[in-house]
Amino acid sequence: MIDQETIQRIMDAARIEEVIGDFVSLKKRGANHIGCCPFHNEKTPSFYVSPSKGIYKCFGCGEAGDVVGFLKKHEHYTYPEALRYLAKKYNIEIQEEELTPEEKQRQTERDGLFHVSEFAQKYFAELLYNDEMGRAVGLSYFHSRGLSDEIIKRFGLGYCLDEWSNFTDHALRNGYSEAVLEKTGLTIIKEDTGKKYDRFRGRVMFPIYSISGRVLGFSGRVLSSEKQAAKYVNSPDSDIYNKSRILYGLFQARTAISKQDKCYLVEGNIDVISMHQSGVENAVASCGTSLTTEQIRLIKRYTPNVTVLYDGDSAGIKAALRAVDLLFAEGMHVRLVLFPDGEDPDSYAQKYGSTQLQDYLATHEDNFIMFKTRVLLDGVKNDPIRRAEVISETARSIAMVTDMLERAEYIRQCAYLLHVDETVLSTAVAKAARKSGEQRVESGERRVENGEQRVENGTVESEPHATPHAPLSAPSEVERHMVQLLLNYGNHTVVQEIELPDGQRQTTENTVAEIIVSELQQDNLSLSHPLCQRIYEQCALMQQMSHSVDVNYFKNTTDDQLRTFAIALMMDTYTLSDSWRAKGIFVPKMEDNLLQDLRETVYTFKSTRIAQMIEERREQLRTADEDRQRMLLAEIQQYIEFGHKLQKARNIIIAPHHNSF
Ligand SMILES: [Zn+2]
Repeated sequence: MIDQETIQRIMDAARIEEVIGDFVSLKKRGANHIGCCPFHNEKTPSFYVSPSKGIYKCFGCGEAGDVVGFLKKHEHYTYPEALRYLAKKYNIEIQEEELTPEEKQRQTERDGLFHVSEFAQKYFAELLYNDEMGRAVGLSYFHSRGLSDEIIKRFGLGYCLDEWSNFTDHALRNGYSEAVLEKTGLTIIKEDTGKKYDRFRGRVMFPIYSISGRVLGFSGRVLSSEKQAAKYVNSPDSDIYNKSRILYGLFQARTAISKQDKCYLVEGNIDVISMHQSGVENAVASCGTSLTTEQIRLIKRYTPNVTVLYDGDSAGIKAALRAVDLLFAEGMHVRLVLFPDGEDPDSYAQKYGSTQLQDYLATHEDNFIMFKTRVLLDGVKNDPIRRAEVISETARSIAMVTDMLERAEYIRQCAYLLHVDETVLSTAVAKAARKSGEQRVESGERRVENGEQRVENGTVESEPHATPHAPLSAPSEVERHMVQLLLNYGNHTVVQEIELPDGQRQTTENTVAEIIVSELQQDNLSLSHPLCQRIYEQCALMQQMSHSVDVNYFKNTTDDQLRTFAIALMMDTYTLSDSWRAKGIFVPKMEDNLLQDLRETVYTFKSTRIAQMIEERREQLRTADEDRQRMLLAEIQQYIEFGHKLQKARNIIIAPHHNSF
């Protein structure tokens, strides 16, 4: 349990733009920070973060929430996990009792997996420096690969002793359960004998981190020359580790990737570390798998530019070719650096040093389609059928390039390489583009058919709270504006001068919410838009209970519709004012003159609402019987009188008192 006071300290310290900025590349625009949404796939940023309001909102997919909501959604944290993460980030100490073995047992499985992975990482890292064998074998190996102590620590490298169950025994002694150890794959339990042993024994350890820096799993490299042992062993997939959704080094590289707007994709863990040490910090590797779409989307959060680094052996080229179509399909800008025969980024950096490596990368970038065409052409010789295949294969790749100028340039270069006329190739490209376009349309139609299902990322999931409701129309601008005043300025105090019946003037102080609530209650008015009305009602309730409006209620409510609606209103204050202005209604920037704006809004709301109600009753008159007609006419009369009074009151209103906020 974290006490309320600590929670408050954590929430006060957490800067939403910093927290989200660790996962999404954000750029400052006006009062907000914007970037590409991590929750849906997009090319132009529609994800807004408002530091002053402590909220984020995607105008593409509608995802919205506060800093804790972001961590829950993005990192799949529970509420306490999100708080602990923030506490760690902002160095706030959480007083917690030491867990007993029973409590450890009871922890949720996921929590247990995270715990034991972190525990293992610390243990392996410690052995590397503080154990005789660790130093003699593990540390010597890393040093022989040219890695400095600083970089070893930065990547959390370690060593697992070459004993049957040294780690497993240590973990069991520290209260971790066999089940959890087995689930992470750190311990293997023989089915027949029940004998336990360490999966990674005798291996140097590369912990694999999430983008927020949690240890998810390991990659272990064997050092002995035993022939039957695999060179690398990785953690098996578990509740926290999914190899197709993880990139090795991304945690350490993400800032550099974002800053340099480019990501180097290499083959091995050691390549990543070696490049970081050489000052090329924007490098990652897909560990233990060929590149996946999920991994590409991870990169895309930080940059659309990927340069694939591969060595020139056939396995490297094959892997690179597999990657290309996937990268293009995700709209990435792909380039390639081919290393000279027998070299990889690590060996190159070792042999020539960091300046040379950086120079090599800068001067050897090739575009990927050219590379692919060259590889495909190799070995075709003059076989006309194979040649035609290469042309259509190349056309297929070029068709995936979405930028038309870029596409034309590829056609020009590849036509030259293939010794064909440009028009031949561009016809083939157009054909291939049509084909893939048709496929996209087909899947789009499927989407419409399944009205209640969302087809995204290739998986079909039902929408949360999938109660079918008619889509709500947008609220009128004045209602939007009034709710915005409640949400954004509800607790601001405004000073009014009022004229008493005896002609004396008196100054009163009220909050914006107080004024709105009392104005509406006094005339018994409600808002016509259901969501606006719900927000108003909730604010009125809070106003009565605690004399203030707590917008956290709307940021955290589990009612998705209400939450996203409220947050959207909190975010787009200024666009709204602009649209008012465009209609010739002068609305000063709210902060400039809150009182004036408040009066204007309440007045406009009342008069439009009255007009609406009169209109509704006129409408009903047509079909009403005689009794009902009389009643409606009386009501209409009342509303018209009310409207006159309202106008009169407005005319004698005291010239606005200028406050600066
Ligand atoms: Zn989105």
